Amino acid sequence: MLQRKYLLTFTSDIVNEPITYKIVKSFDLLVNILRADVGDRGGRLLISVEGSGQQIEKAVQYLVNAKVQVKELNEYVNKSDERCTDCGMCLSICPVDAFEIDRISWKISFNAEKCIACGMCVDACPPQAIKISDL
Ligand code: SF4
Ligand code: SF4
Repeated sequence: MLQRKYLLTFTSDIVNEPITYKIVKSFDLLVNILRADVGDRGGRLLISVEGSGQQIEKAVQYLVNAKVQVKELNEYVNKSDERCTDCGMCLSICPVDAFEIDRISWKISFNAEKCIACGMCVDACPPQAIKISDL
């Protein structure tokens, strides 16, 4: 099983299409909507998809054919090691433990695989070392 994150951007003419429902039903994928910004003029969905590589590929092709712009996100947030002061605020606020502390060096590291894109760490970081990726 693979897990991937995608940013879907679509225009007003397909805003009422049940695209996430279709990729769940037609391609047997687990879909989690991480962020949604949908209005009359179109919208953007940040989704996490879990399933076989082949089914994910088919679902992406379906979306492209349905005129949805699909961008795979490898990292939703970026942590700047230069700015980071290893204060640990992100460590305590992240709901999925995407930050880890090295008990020897006391350095904080970020594991993008675990991130569910809630955005809470961005505001919590005092020196603004965490930025949202260019979406
Ligand atoms: S909150 Fe910011 S400065 Fe503090 S450990 Fe996390 S990334 Fe580093
Ligand atoms: S965006 Fe949310 S889930 Fe991702 S690292 Fe920050 S706090 Fe954790």
